[in-house]
Amino acid sequence: MLQAAVISVLGFYLCCFFFDLFVLTDVTVLSAVLRFGVMVPMSGGLLFYLNGEHPVEHKEGAAILVALLAQVSWSIIVTASHNPAVLGYYYAACTFQMAITIAAASPFRPSLHASVFGFCLTYSVIWFLEGATPLYAVQHLSVYLPTVAMTLLVSYQLEAEAMANYLQQQENEVLKRELSRQNKDLARLSVTDPLTRLSNRRGTEMELLRLTTEAQNEAERVVLLVADVDNFKAYNDAYGHGAGDECLKRVARAMRRALPIEAHFARHGGEEFVAILSASDAEMAASVAESLRRAVRQLGIGHDHTGDRNRHVTVSIGAACGAVRSAADYERLLEAADRALYAAKGDGRNSWRVFEGDEVARVVA
Ligand code: GH3
Ligand code: MG
Ligand code: MG
Repeated sequence: MLQAAVISVLGFYLCCFFFDLFVLTDVTVLSAVLRFGVMVPMSGGLLFYLNGEHPVEHKEGAAILVALLAQVSWSIIVTASHNPAVLGYYYAACTFQMAITIAAASPFRPSLHASVFGFCLTYSVIWFLEGATPLYAVQHLSVYLPTVAMTLLVSYQLEAEAMANYLQQQENEVLKRELSRQNKDLARLSVTDPLTRLSNRRGTEMELLRLTTEAQNEAERVVLLVADVDNFKAYNDAYGHGAGDECLKRVARAMRRALPIEAHFARHGGEEFVAILSASDAEMAASVAESLRRAVRQLGIGHDHTGDRNRHVTVSIGAACGAVRSAADYERLLEAADRALYAAKGDGRNSWRVFEGDEVARVVA
């Protein structure tokens, strides 16, 4: 922005040479020397400086300095002239001041500084002009003051607008970040079970999508385990829903700890949980199922209403292994694991079965 301001003021400043050429014929050479020999190289240096890595306050200061030097050199030109036309020409001071203020429309601060300096310079120099009188100075002031005041006001308004836009932009950025954070939270919540903080059924669907996408070229064998808390309705009835919730949380935590860290583990609703282990086989399925069963039993949560000798909260587990290339593969695997779970329930609970091929195998007693 400063660079654009410098280039436009310089262009304006150089154009003024033609006025010197036609109006102040006695100082044309001086004008050429000061405008082209001094101010052009100086502006080049300024542009080079503005292009570098410097604090913006320093850049503003350098731009003001060069603008002020331009005014000084212009003052030298007009005071050197003995042409009576210089009095009329001197009204151009207002225009030059306007050009500086408008070009540097925003930021306002440098415009104000330049205007104050310009004012002091203009009315110091005015007394050295050929034929200047106090009346002339007052007339000049009556044009100069409103012109500069108006342009300063416009500059201030532009700066205020730019600032308001910037603040609005910042606010939008904050809102955007907040929205994106809320979206992330929402996405996380949509796959989280509120009671156990485990993944929910939707989370498993996402995991399944990941598995089937990755399995496009090379189908990976996975183990699917379905774990169901035994006699949980009786537990709820006997100890209350609150105690049931607490029990579910402890069971969920124990099973999560017993699983390999990379396994997907989710609550599929009620007292039923699903675990998915990648790159696994039936042997692995058996060992993991036993770990889950043992982890829950070792919690030692009393349950006097199991209806059998086992007076503790336990889980039964059904497992199945196979390649998952599609959702249909997963459904088949889930059905097989459910059948294995059903077999484990039928066989006295607190146990597990692995479904292999068409058989539900009891790998270990
Ligand atoms: P089984 O050994 O055959 O699995 O018998 P069960 O009693 O565990 O199975 P059933 O399907 O008959 O009952 C499941 C119970 O789980 C019923 C319901 O009250 C309870 N339940 C489901 N979700 C929740 C929950 O979020 N909190 C609590 N406290 N209980 C729940
Ligand atoms: Mg149950
Ligand atoms: Mg159930």
